[in-house]
Amino acid sequence: MSEGALANLRDELEQIFATIGVQVSWVDRATSPEHASECLEFRAIILPIQPTSWGFRPRAMGTVLSLDPPHTVFIFFPTIVRTVMRLESSYYGRYGADCRLVARGMARIMAHEMLHVLAPGLPHSEEGLMKRALNRNDLLLERPVIDPAFADAFRRTLLAGNKTKRLLLGASSPHSGGH
Ligand SMILES: [Zn+2]
Repeated sequence: MSEGALANLRDELEQIFATIGVQVSWVDRATSPEHASECLEFRAIILPIQPTSWGFRPRAMGTVLSLDPPHTVFIFFPTIVRTVMRLESSYYGRYGADCRLVARGMARIMAHEMLHVLAPGLPHSEEGLMKRALNRNDLLLERPVIDPAFADAFRRTLLAGNKTKRLLLGASSPHSGGH
């Protein structure tokens, strides 16, 4: 991902978590593998593949494979681009992560999955960011709304493990640029 795309993604994530009083820091583990932190750390893996190739439904946008550390969330970049750009086909090559709207969609899917990791017992909510099936409006509406039960559980887990409401997030993408 380009610097600009990462900056957009970082902005969007900071805004989402600020709504529940959680501060996000960012580290690039490719360049700072030894950077130590007292924060709870998440890894976000941006997958350039179709979700069906991992056995998920075609419209899946993100997933979590394990709740254990290192906390890792996966997002399916092609599905997010298709949803944001209203594309029906699998073609997404014209649009890249540099697009602010794509960054917003990516950040919201990442946040959705991160909330699942720290609040694993909760069912999806009826409305807002923790709905089961997020649509284009949910990805792009001006203010993302996090269900209070998720927000509480997330903050509780964060505080229990770290005594600080801070998150550290690293993103990595198998592709750098090109899309
Ligand atoms: Zn979910």
